Amino acid sequence: MSHTTAAVIGGGIIGLAVARELHHALPDADITVFEKEAGVATQQTGHNSGVVHAGLYYEPGSLKARLCRRGVELLAEYADRHDVRYEACGKLVVAQNQGELERLHAIHARAVANGVPDVRMIGPAEIKEIEPHARGIAALHSPHTAIVDYPGIARALASDVEAAGGQVKLGHEVKAVHERSAEAVVVTEHGEERFDLVITCAGLQSDRLARSSGDASAPAIVPFFGDYFLLRRETAELVKGLIYPVPDPRYPFLGVHLTRRIDGTVVLGPNAFLSLAREGYQRGTISLPDLREAVGSLAFWRFAARNIPAAFRESKSVLSTRSFVEQARTYVPEISLADVRRGPRGIRAQAMHADGSLADDFVITGTSRVLHIRNAPSPGATSSLAIAEHIVREALNRKNPQIAES
Ligand SMILES: Cc1cc2nc3c(=O)[nH]c(=O)nc-3n(C[C@H](O)[C@H](O)[C@H](O)COP(=O)(O)OP(=O)(O)OC[C@H]3O[C@@H](n4cnc5c(N)ncnc54)[C@H](O)[C@@H]3O)c2cc1C
Repeated sequence: MSHTTAAVIGGGIIGLAVARELHHALPDADITVFEKEAGVATQQTGHNSGVVHAGLYYEPGSLKARLCRRGVELLAEYADRHDVRYEACGKLVVAQNQGELERLHAIHARAVANGVPDVRMIGPAEIKEIEPHARGIAALHSPHTAIVDYPGIARALASDVEAAGGQVKLGHEVKAVHERSAEAVVVTEHGEERFDLVITCAGLQSDRLARSSGDASAPAIVPFFGDYFLLRRETAELVKGLIYPVPDPRYPFLGVHLTRRIDGTVVLGPNAFLSLAREGYQRGTISLPDLREAVGSLAFWRFAARNIPAAFRESKSVLSTRSFVEQARTYVPEISLADVRRGPRGIRAQAMHADGSLADDFVITGTSRVLHIRNAPSPGATSSLAIAEHIVREALNRKNPQIAES
């Protein structure tokens, strides 16, 4: 009997978690990961805030809510077993006024509904005990929200895949995936390879690969960059853990927050603005094809028309470091312009529906032979091991005859 052959496209945290999960579910299968870059975790996985989200905000019952909680459990255990740095530094979501306080109570109720342990509302005195330099009229405290080394997790996953007999092919860009009646063909510049099952986890390129296999054109990826500033080492002690604003429903992205990272540095940000290139990590990078695709769609202009106040807020923080720092000073007033220097940039692979709304939940589409993760924004890294469980279960449930044979 022939073995199942499966390909995973993308060597970010989700692709590698999926490949490892395929080995668990189909121990005899031949698994190949295709990654276009020279290393794993070079895109979103290596350019994020490094937070293990506890699941405070998400709509109860949504994939995000369920897979985030399960993901935390799996990730904490995985980091421990593989000696990857993980620290439950805790998080405060801080209200500055009565309106925010009302919204914070609603988030508290959601967090409880999502089963987040030990979350509670606290007043200014307790805020000072936990974060001596933070200010606010009240906060939601989530003591188990953590930080982790996500690239370290990705490297450990890649080692697991290889130890189980799988291959991680770096420098292999997949140009297209073609679905045939009894196989899926993966096309790279090195030629064509045939598989029984293909799962694409291609982040910023996910819609393009999905379209190449005949999947729907929407939702399409619109890249939004997020710039970070770093607190200088001498002032990093102003932030002990994670200090976040109360989300404002008028804005699609959270706004500047303060995050301690696992290497001891503290970052401010990220803001959010349309990126002129899907993978433009250097400021000023422009890709005309990427830009044309983003702004050439009606969906984008529908989104833009609905989000003028957000564009105004975000453009201020893009154009002016002072304005960026001012947003952070709302929470920690002692931070000054002299305390920050430019940090890295991350780019969100955010899927947008044809009506211009942003896909909020994780989106998985496809057939019994080719499945695509088309939207995995934050908390995608937190949820990666649970997303992998979910999509592999989904693949097996779709009764692909080649998989059933093995
Ligand atoms: C600024 C920012 C902050 C974030 N903060 C957090 C956080 O604190 N906590 C959290 O849980 N989540 C966070 N996220 C979200 C998280 O980073 C993502 O959900 C997660 O990294 C997605 O993993 P991925 O493997 O799908 O994508 P990626 O890490 O982007 O990996 C996709 C991979 O596919 C490869 N690829 C693409 N096209 C091809 C092709 N054609 N052929 C071969 N390979 C290809 C790419 O090179 C890349 O390596 C953040 C994201 C951003 C951008």
